[in-house]
Amino acid sequence: MNTHKIDLRSDTLTTPTDEMRQAMLNAIVGDDVYGEDPTVNRLQDMIAELFGKEAALFVPTGVMGNQIAIAVHTNKGDEVIVESESHLFHYETAAPSVISAVQMHCIPSKKGEMSLDDISQAIRSSEYYFPETTLICIEQTHNRHGGTVLSLDYMESLHELAKDRKVPVHCDGARIWNACAASGVQPHEYAKHVDTLSVCLSKGLGAPVGSLFIGTKKHVQKALHWRKLLGGGMRQIGFLGAAGIHAVEYHRDNLKVDHYHATTFARMIEEQTHVRVANSSGTIDTNIVIIDCGESPSSTTLQTACAKEGLLLSSGRGNYLRAVFYRDISIDDVNNAVDIFCSCYTKLKSDS
Ligand SMILES: *Cc1c(COP(=O)(O)O)cnc(C)c1O
Repeated sequence: MNTHKIDLRSDTLTTPTDEMRQAMLNAIVGDDVYGEDPTVNRLQDMIAELFGKEAALFVPTGVMGNQIAIAVHTNKGDEVIVESESHLFHYETAAPSVISAVQMHCIPSKKGEMSLDDISQAIRSSEYYFPETTLICIEQTHNRHGGTVLSLDYMESLHELAKDRKVPVHCDGARIWNACAASGVQPHEYAKHVDTLSVCLSKGLGAPVGSLFIGTKKHVQKALHWRKLLGGGMRQIGFLGAAGIHAVEYHRDNLKVDHYHATTFARMIEEQTHVRVANSSGTIDTNIVIIDCGESPSSTTLQTACAKEGLLLSSGRGNYLRAVFYRDISIDDVNNAVDIFCSCYTKLKSDS
């Protein structure tokens, strides 16, 4: 029926614009293993300044950025506090146990903000039989909770506690750009309350490849070693750096449109069907909509039916589906997605 697929599985599907491709083509490049790629150096300086930190390092993926952070902050046998639904815990192939040989200590939370009491109790005292807690990780925005935004106040209080207990904080900021667009908080204001961050260029910002690890010069010096060890020392990456610069300069504002599209989609499917939006904050904070399909139809049946009509959704836990909005999705796509979703839902409901 529809020839044009509306693919809402993830914002990683964002494709480079013509202007971005042009910027890539025109990039001045050099060998980055020698530190001589002027374009990636410019991107790193620009990101460090934007986040108010001393230095930043380009890495191929967000996973590598997070894993480098853990490697930089910990020693073998340490413990890292992470949120139970975090990307670090679920989607990074248990890499902390392989690369840094650390153990993860999961703390559940409502929308990504682990309670300070829980964190305080989880930080180990210095008994010889305990592992040492050497890092706390947070995720901004929080993916599995539905793109929820952690408040600046929360981050400030967490940072106070962590400093008090002498434990550094790392922020998995794959979608911190969405948090900034939604809250109006500047990158450096969030970054002030963490020691290191990793941020993605390849989600909603729409660069084809790339993330940055951000911290002090000392952190980045160590990160450089770990990036090489992990096989992430690259050569003429200015082509990717140019895409990143273009993304940061021109694509941040558009995230607000994605958020508006997500809210519109959520409101309309709730009006026209019995599904419930299940984002943990109770609202659509950013560009992710978690759909609770209820008792019937099952999420997989609905997902398959929608896919046949050209609407792709990803599956979540339980009877949940997920829809993610990004710059390649127009308002017409949003309206068509609503139509497809609602007609598939209604048909399956009347069949059951
Ligand atoms: C996408 C993502 C990452 C990094 O994933 P890569 O595919 O390695 O770039 C990390 N954290 C979160 C929350 C993400 O959504």
